[in-house]
Amino acid sequence: MRFLLLFIFIITTLFGSCNSVSLSKTYQIYSTAKQDYIKAILDENRNKKVIALKKIVDCGKVLGFNVSKYEIQLKKLTNKKVKKNTPHKYKPIKNPLKLESKYIKVISYNPLKIKLNSKMRVKYLTLNRKGKLYKIFDIYNAKINRKISKKITQNIYLIAAQNMPNKVRVVLYSRKKFKIKYSNKHKYLNITLFDKSIPKYTKMPKIKEKLKKYKQKIIVIDPGHGGKDYGGIANGVREKDIVLRIGLYLRDELKRRGYKVYMTRYGDYFVKLSTRTKFANRHNADLFISLHCNIFRDNPNIKGVTTYYLSPARTKRAERVAKLENSAFRELKSINQKVVLNFLNKNRIIQSDKMAMDIQRNIIFNLRKYYKNIEDRGVRPAPFWVLVGTQMPSILLETGFLTNKLEAKRLKNRSYQKRYAKAIADGIESYLIKNQ
Ligand SMILES: [Zn+2]
Repeated sequence: MRFLLLFIFIITTLFGSCNSVSLSKTYQIYSTAKQDYIKAILDENRNKKVIALKKIVDCGKVLGFNVSKYEIQLKKLTNKKVKKNTPHKYKPIKNPLKLESKYIKVISYNPLKIKLNSKMRVKYLTLNRKGKLYKIFDIYNAKINRKISKKITQNIYLIAAQNMPNKVRVVLYSRKKFKIKYSNKHKYLNITLFDKSIPKYTKMPKIKEKLKKYKQKIIVIDPGHGGKDYGGIANGVREKDIVLRIGLYLRDELKRRGYKVYMTRYGDYFVKLSTRTKFANRHNADLFISLHCNIFRDNPNIKGVTTYYLSPARTKRAERVAKLENSAFRELKSINQKVVLNFLNKNRIIQSDKMAMDIQRNIIFNLRKYYKNIEDRGVRPAPFWVLVGTQMPSILLETGFLTNKLEAKRLKNRSYQKRYAKAIADGIESYLIKNQ
């Protein structure tokens, strides 16, 4: 009911000189104005001509009649420009009721797509009244089964309703300027909306463009340790070797998918912590992925995957791992740790947490397709110094426990490393898709 009143309100407030509520009254005013116009011509009264013509034009438009002749006369008398954007593509239909009206069907709202019948005729007009811009499509020989009143973009509203027994009026209106493109072909009325203020509502970028956009992302892979710094060693496996292999496979996988990738080290050499983070910042990296292996000598049964994101939050377990990973970076001992952690960027922590969750989830999901006993140790916050210096969302992945025999064996296996890298790439990609 509210929509009906709104619709009547629009119809009646749109057109100043025919303030009638019902369409039959509008028609009365229109007919009287025509008689007045003839009288005014006979009287050669210019003012009366203008008044009558204004009524004819305004009410005629409401009624869907072709009033272009009267508009031209009015223009001649008032020297006002007739709006160019009021095309009259179709001749007025003399006996519209003779044709049987069929129902239109709204297929989509943005872009607005309406299914028509071949007998239907469309007339388009645009109006600027009381600070609102109206784009009106009158569809003749048409019916609509229900009134539609809908906000279809940030600023553009749609009302579609039965305007006359044989005519459906589709009104797009906004307080702000907006453009449309429309075509009436193959039994479809297609209207593309250009709502300037919020472009993302008007035209969704194609999937390819979307992919292109996030695939321009720069990812820095940071294989931990290297050179004189072996990282953890257990079961004859060295952390620095494993993380470099997985890192190189991850680089290949991400490059294959179209990302820009840099690595903090490409071989077995030592790289300072500060050099790693400076490297990532210098390359304007969007993401920073640090790769490591875990060690827990107290219990060799402990195994599993853990993804850490930088946070001042400290749990005992996280602290233990952080101590292990941080121990190589003596240069940071002079830094007042508490002060640095207090200045962490909250948004970066949130983004890092999100990325950590996507990566962790994808690793567990993908590896479980091929291997038994893949243990999910979850996503954890930890004060890793390698992540402190980075300015982008950053995570530190503990790929597995070298102290666990099964995991050490798997981690040095090439196909496990490749599948691992692919799973990390899936995680990065799902994070990027969700958080563009
Ligand atoms: Zn490590």
